[in-house]
Amino acid sequence: MNIVETKLLTDCAADLIEAAQLLQSGQVVGIPTETVYGLAADARNEQAVRQIFAAKGRPADNPLIVHIAQLCQLETVAKTVPALAQKLADHFWPGPLTMILPKQTAIPDVTSGGLDTVGIRMPAHPVARALILLSGTPLAAPSANRSGYPSPTTAEHVMRDMEGKIAAVLDGGKCDVGVESTVIAFENDDTVRILRPGYVTKQMLESYAKTVILDPAILHGVEQGQIVRSPGMKYQHYAPRANVTLVEGTQIAFENFVRQHARPGVFALVFDEAGRIPGVPCLTYGNSGSEQAQQIFARLRDLDDLGAAHVYVHAPSREGVGLAVYNRLIRAAGFEVIQI
Ligand code: AMP
Ligand code: MG
Repeated sequence: MNIVETKLLTDCAADLIEAAQLLQSGQVVGIPTETVYGLAADARNEQAVRQIFAAKGRPADNPLIVHIAQLCQLETVAKTVPALAQKLADHFWPGPLTMILPKQTAIPDVTSGGLDTVGIRMPAHPVARALILLSGTPLAAPSANRSGYPSPTTAEHVMRDMEGKIAAVLDGGKCDVGVESTVIAFENDDTVRILRPGYVTKQMLESYAKTVILDPAILHGVEQGQIVRSPGMKYQHYAPRANVTLVEGTQIAFENFVRQHARPGVFALVFDEAGRIPGVPCLTYGNSGSEQAQQIFARLRDLDDLGAAHVYVHAPSREGVGLAVYNRLIRAAGFEVIQI
């Protein structure tokens, strides 16, 4: 990896064509999607995919999600597509749902982290879709952050993490959803298991699948020796440099707790202006699950920029998309949760 200059591209037609050409020539490009920014490369090109792992510092056994733009591309990536997967694709694609399916031989082992399955998603972001179509290949794209650090939701976040390591970053504005896709695996003809919560919730999936299981690893760490259904569950994730503690309780209880623990370097992440705590530097991350999803990663990065040493985060609700926010935060906190 000896790239010196990382180009900043826009979403104008000429830049889209340039990004597609870079992808075709086996280079890595940071691209916008509706969830978070992705670090994209030709999913079928081993050398290109290796550069993604190198740029991120990602463990080789943590598989990448492959992105397609049309349903007819599905069979070029998945070996078989169960009827339920087809039904979910019809309802949720393009959108933030990733399905784990048996992989086609065209998808190399590097992309799937050595597994014989592959995670597949059809993004809704027009730039991501255009790049898949223009480059003429499915794109492997994990989140475009340094491994372990909060995911990027702006092109600037990607530049900060990847400058000098990848060929280009394409600026398509702020991400709408803000947290990564919901990842599901198929247990049988009418049962799916959520491996990672996202904007597509259990309740939404229940309209189409008879049974939807939430994998226990969503809310709890993976014990040593435990079977891991998704390699990403094993690794530290989403953590800023600051120490994070998730605090669950009412607004009053949270405020009292933080006041008692206030000292230089301590910050609080609260829902809204009304939640600000006198004498303690506070940032807000919204009230609803979707606002919190949109803002959480940017706020964690902001806290590092402000030099926070320790952050107490007022824990979000686990309802609906809140579960995805909660899941990212307990990992950012290394499972340090205080109930008050
Ligand atoms: P990221 O690329 O950063 O959004 O992370 C992708 C997530 O999807 C990781 O947690 C992976 O472990 C998971 N994933 C991708 N492909 C598979 C697969 N074939 N089986 C299980 N989990 C997968
Ligand atoms: Mg990631």
